[in-house]
Amino acid sequence: MPKLSEDSVPQPSLAGSSNLDTLAVRSGIHRTAFNEHSEALFLTSSYVFSSAQQAADRFGNREPGNIYSRFTNPTVTAFQERLAALEGGQACVATASGMSAILATFMGLLKSGDHVVVSQSLFGATVQLLNNILGKFGLEVTFVPLADLQAWQQAIRPNTRLFFLETPSNPTMELVDIAALAQMAHAAGVLVAVDNCFCTPVLQRPLQWGADLVVHSATKYLDGQGRVLGGAIVGSQELVMDGGIYAFLRTAGPTLSAFNAWICLKGMETLPIRLQAQSQSALLLAQWLECHPAVARVYYPGLPSHPQYELARRQQRLGGAIVTFDVKGGQEAAWRVVDSTRIISITANLGDTKSTITHPATTTHGRISEQARSSAGIGSGMLRVSVGLEGVSDLQEDLARGLSITR
Ligand SMILES: *Cc1c(COP(=O)(O)O)cnc(C)c1O
Repeated sequence: MPKLSEDSVPQPSLAGSSNLDTLAVRSGIHRTAFNEHSEALFLTSSYVFSSAQQAADRFGNREPGNIYSRFTNPTVTAFQERLAALEGGQACVATASGMSAILATFMGLLKSGDHVVVSQSLFGATVQLLNNILGKFGLEVTFVPLADLQAWQQAIRPNTRLFFLETPSNPTMELVDIAALAQMAHAAGVLVAVDNCFCTPVLQRPLQWGADLVVHSATKYLDGQGRVLGGAIVGSQELVMDGGIYAFLRTAGPTLSAFNAWICLKGMETLPIRLQAQSQSALLLAQWLECHPAVARVYYPGLPSHPQYELARRQQRLGGAIVTFDVKGGQEAAWRVVDSTRIISITANLGDTKSTITHPATTTHGRISEQARSSAGIGSGMLRVSVGLEGVSDLQEDLARGLSITR
């Protein structure tokens, strides 16, 4: 049998396409000499060198190629290339989880005494990471209201290095104008990183609006079926590969496993079609909730009643698959809705094909003070639904059961 080498194998072509649907299924493929049609899963921790010279050349960066799966694995590379293609970034590094992507961003770019400005409405663990862990190492942090551009401007200090944000925010679905923020940041020599977990590149491509880095929890929509944890950072070659992020990951090791990369790689093939379908259902559900007498308010960027509807239309392709709403009657009424569901899962996870429901005030945002919660606009009657692929009428019926008791 001949020795297997990728060089002699015809590689699939993208024919120059920049269409996201095409990139989602066709980008990042490196076929082996077996001519496999589906992407191969390489479960190997290391790679064999043909000689002592080759080993030395690989380690010395004189020859490209795989060395050790903490930092080079063909399946992980395929995942990275596919996500980079979708986000429109030069480079991508994959991480063990969304949190390790966020950690690597901070560890790679910042040092003791640096200052970061972040939106108040961040994922809970991101806040803990900044306050409780990185704070110990002398990182300075200022929290600002996401949509308040003036507050971002005023927070800039001589040692400010980075803006970090999520848009839309969780759970209140507030947006910030990424292009305006990037312009402000760059004028002050500050970088912008966007956690694009809620929208994914299918709905929003922050790099296109001027952001420098995009961070992902692949655990959510990229896998999309609630199976594995994963994360990634996308941006320029200079920032991601040469600027310290890759070096941190390579050395410290919170990188993506080949198996999880393979799951997310296959998950990404259906990402455009899932986000499209789940967003469409979310819009229908949001419209229905807005007319329901037991619902006080709906927070959904795809509804004309959303205060930033115009920005959402410009910046995002669709409203997304997360719908937040306030029920009348506070926590008791909200819990009744949660406990009356038969289809929708009671879980804090999101981005799954199975719809999930969360009561933020007593779960994801339960550890912050009542005052901080109310200033973030998170009331005791608030519920967040991550809309999956079930029939919309079933989801309506599932929520209507608890809402009708409330009324
Ligand atoms: C889930 C989530 C994270 C963390 O990702 P993990 O994969 O759970 O580590 C970060 N940011 C946002 C917005 C998330 O929803």
